[in-house]
Amino acid sequence: MSQKQQLLKQYFGYDQFRPAQEEIIDQIVQGRDVSAIMPTSAGKSLCYQIPALMLSGITIVVSPLISLMQDQVSALLEMGIPALLINSSLSAEDYRAAIWRLHQGDVKLLYVAPERLLNDYFIQTLQQLPVSLVAVDEAHCISQWGNDFRPAYQSISTFLDYLPNRPVVAAFTATATPRVRKDISLQLGLINVHEIVTGFDRPNLYFAVEEPKDKWLRLLELVDQNEASIIYCSTRKDVDKLFEKLSQKGYSVGAYHAGLPIEERARTQEDFLFDRLNIIVATNAFGMGIDKPNVRQVIHYSMPKDIESYYQEAGRAGRDGETAKCTLFYNGRDIMTNLFFLEKGNDPVGKEKLNEMIDYCRTITCLRHFMLDYFGQEEVPLRCEHCSNCTENISLVDVTIDAQKIISCIIRMNERFGVTRIIEVLRGSKNKEVIQLKLDQLSTYGILSEHSEKTLRNYIGALVADRYLQVTGSEYPVIKITPKGKRAIKQRSPIQIKRTIALTLKQPDPIKRKKRDNDLPYDQVLFERLRGLRLNLASQHGVPPFVIFSDASLRDMCRYLPISDEEFLEISGVGLKKLESYGDNFLSMIRDYKEEQGDVEE
Ligand code: ADP
Repeated sequence: MSQKQQLLKQYFGYDQFRPAQEEIIDQIVQGRDVSAIMPTSAGKSLCYQIPALMLSGITIVVSPLISLMQDQVSALLEMGIPALLINSSLSAEDYRAAIWRLHQGDVKLLYVAPERLLNDYFIQTLQQLPVSLVAVDEAHCISQWGNDFRPAYQSISTFLDYLPNRPVVAAFTATATPRVRKDISLQLGLINVHEIVTGFDRPNLYFAVEEPKDKWLRLLELVDQNEASIIYCSTRKDVDKLFEKLSQKGYSVGAYHAGLPIEERARTQEDFLFDRLNIIVATNAFGMGIDKPNVRQVIHYSMPKDIESYYQEAGRAGRDGETAKCTLFYNGRDIMTNLFFLEKGNDPVGKEKLNEMIDYCRTITCLRHFMLDYFGQEEVPLRCEHCSNCTENISLVDVTIDAQKIISCIIRMNERFGVTRIIEVLRGSKNKEVIQLKLDQLSTYGILSEHSEKTLRNYIGALVADRYLQVTGSEYPVIKITPKGKRAIKQRSPIQIKRTIALTLKQPDPIKRKKRDNDLPYDQVLFERLRGLRLNLASQHGVPPFVIFSDASLRDMCRYLPISDEEFLEISGVGLKKLESYGDNFLSMIRDYKEEQGDVEE
């Protein structure tokens, strides 16, 4: 067994490296700068944590968020790896103690925020110490071209210049366009850099797009009190409303948006992180700093404004690499509202991005293919068999006749009205204003009276999405016909819209189906007990539960029911230190359980 393999087993409790991890570790240990672009949850941290153990000096990890660093350091300490965090909240005394520990040479990984690197005292201290590696996490923060620019990141290269010997520098990020990638190398001053791009796919995520008849009812079918879920809404009002409704139904749920007091937000976030709260309803303000590995599903209650935001938010599911589900709800109304607001402003880029987002909702090709292709990944398979478009019966439905009726009605109404009024005319409403405006005398009055208001709204939304119609207007939205719509009417060309055939509700949940095929079963009762034990230990130690063991490790325990130390070490995620700290607790609970089941071996 090679040294790195041994460290992987001994400290992290894993048997195998993931793709790219080995290559990155080798390059760093051989003294070469590295720039690695790997998707979330691919296992970037290990790529500098293992070299840190192999190299003789200190590894400095630069990371943007204190809460994340705190979790990482707790996790490392739990594994028996000497790590230290220096941040501005340390008292003078603690700071001196930290520096003393550094001088003692018993710290392998030192976590700091970028601002710290320009502190004179810090620089002087580090000048006297052997620094082997500087690992830059979330390296895209260095670039103004990225979406999380942090000016302090630009001080990293100045800091490197102060050191008597230049350490190896390794940059890591999940998001980087070619432009940002170049900027990272340039601004960090990477030398002869070895670049590794592993692609953006998150194979463990199941992507679904749905146009539910009733979003609320569909949501109730999807949420599971026992699984960590995030529900994203586009407005604070929606967050408050859903939060209220879910609470009334008895769910343990938290709300998060920028309008709530900071302390309340911090508490909600912590409760979620510590598994005290499983469901969060939030705006996109909930995100930065969410590094909870066991989020099992992310639901978007309405359509986000672009694919980048969507992929980032949905990507908060399944960071632990286990199967997770990302569902996006959309309907014609969402599309029209979004388009109207953009129409009022002057943001051509925003409009283009929104159109891509709409296309994603309406495509009948593989969703994963669509997204990866959007991010510029090459050679993406045409089907993934792990998204709703691949696994469900999706097809295009011909709505030519109805669409023609809608378009002709809008023509007769002189393209001067909004959706509500158009629908009133199509359904033959007796509304006073309709009569006053003499709209009841049009030949199209009441020609679609067999459809509900909701159906017509969705049809019109679909026609807007497919650019037969457009939403314009400065004060209130007015529906007009596009040149494409006019052509379709003139040439009587067929018009189709996307529909999921057969009720989605009646189909077996694809996630569960997948799980049954791929994963071995495990004992759910024991799992809940072990989870309880983990929660207790976590509160005793003041760390989030996942720092003690991941869900995957607990499930493995329920599958193999280890009762000896040797067997416990075989569990994925159990290293020597974890065995020492928690072995007795978990093993005795498993033994008791086996006994209870009449399965005693002693
Ligand atoms: P990233 O920083 O790329 O988002 P992390 O470093 O947080 O990802 O790793 C994600 C999860 O995968 C963590 O729970 C980590 O322990 C686990 N992991 C990393 N490498 C391996 C491996 N070789 N085998 C099993 N699990 C791994």
